Amino acid sequence: MKRSIFFILAFVAPLSGCSAKAVQYSEWKMGTPCSVRFYHLKDKSLPARCFEAIDETEHALDVVKSTDEAAALNAGKTDRVSPLLNETIAFSLAVAEKTDGAFSPLLGRMTALWGFSSGQPQKPQTEEIKRLLPFAETAFLDYRKEDNFCTLKSRDTAFDFGAVGKGIASDEVSRLCEAAQTTALIDLGGNIQTVGSKPNGEPWRISLKSPLQSPPPLFGELTFYGSCAVSTSGDYQKFFYEDGVKYHHILDPKTGMPAHSGLRAVTVVSERSAAEADALSTALFVMGLEAGSRWAEKNSDIGIIWFTSDNRLYITRNLAERFTPSAAAFTPTVLPQTEP
Ligand code: AMP
Ligand code: MG
Repeated sequence: MKRSIFFILAFVAPLSGCSAKAVQYSEWKMGTPCSVRFYHLKDKSLPARCFEAIDETEHALDVVKSTDEAAALNAGKTDRVSPLLNETIAFSLAVAEKTDGAFSPLLGRMTALWGFSSGQPQKPQTEEIKRLLPFAETAFLDYRKEDNFCTLKSRDTAFDFGAVGKGIASDEVSRLCEAAQTTALIDLGGNIQTVGSKPNGEPWRISLKSPLQSPPPLFGELTFYGSCAVSTSGDYQKFFYEDGVKYHHILDPKTGMPAHSGLRAVTVVSERSAAEADALSTALFVMGLEAGSRWAEKNSDIGIIWFTSDNRLYITRNLAERFTPSAAAFTPTVLPQTEP
């Protein structure tokens, strides 16, 4: 059996062009490089507090380390949830409903079976995928948000917050920066969030990595002012080949298999929160272009760019003027949206 494994981390990256008054702090957190660039930093304790917030989020949502809260919940060791875990469960269930199940926070046993977070992914037995599939349903969840109570009714049901954790952490950092009245650019493993407008009056410029192996390395750039979150999900970020077949880390909750939705990547822009951009980029990848564009029509406050398997680009109308392709081949087709 031939297997090769690839993990590609940086999928969107802020363009440089650093202002003299900007200072950047970087650390490896949540299994990925994390950085925050602060503009006119006044409160010297802010960077440390931001990275502590990332640690606290990881402690609440990580399902791998047994000492972390979500891992304990999955193991049936607790039924009490902290405010952060509680909010994340509630938010994830709301996204699952809003995306008609394309996003599922209950795929924990299935994602563990595929082993992407262990660093040694492999194709599971088809029988085991079929056996586990029914357990990723909310019927196996007993959850009362108002009581901070949550329990899983089967050992074959488990949470996985991998599709939303970095977004949640980014929102925590963003809140700290806002409270300290500090403009910031947050990059948690490619999940980008801006807080406020650049002090020099220039727009934020976010470059988007091409999923193709051939040049150019970027398929385009987004330009905007003010606070915004940008997240990309793609089949090129974590994948492996087994017997010549490519398997990636975004699963279709209907099949338990890597989603074959005709897409290479989806970028989502949310002005509300990084958690929303993060969760929706995963969900829209699963949905594919046809279902996703119908969803986009009704959700006109969300900006979306689809990169299809046949290398075409589609973009929602609300982003059209903010996107500059890096080459003529990446000129997108603009899709309609109703006014928000
Ligand atoms: P992202 O890279 O943000 O798209 O998230 C992908 C990660 O979320 C995977 O590595 C899994 O841990 C988890 N995941 C995979 N498929 C789904 C899905 N359909 N819904 C929710 N989480 C998922
Ligand atoms: Mg995501």
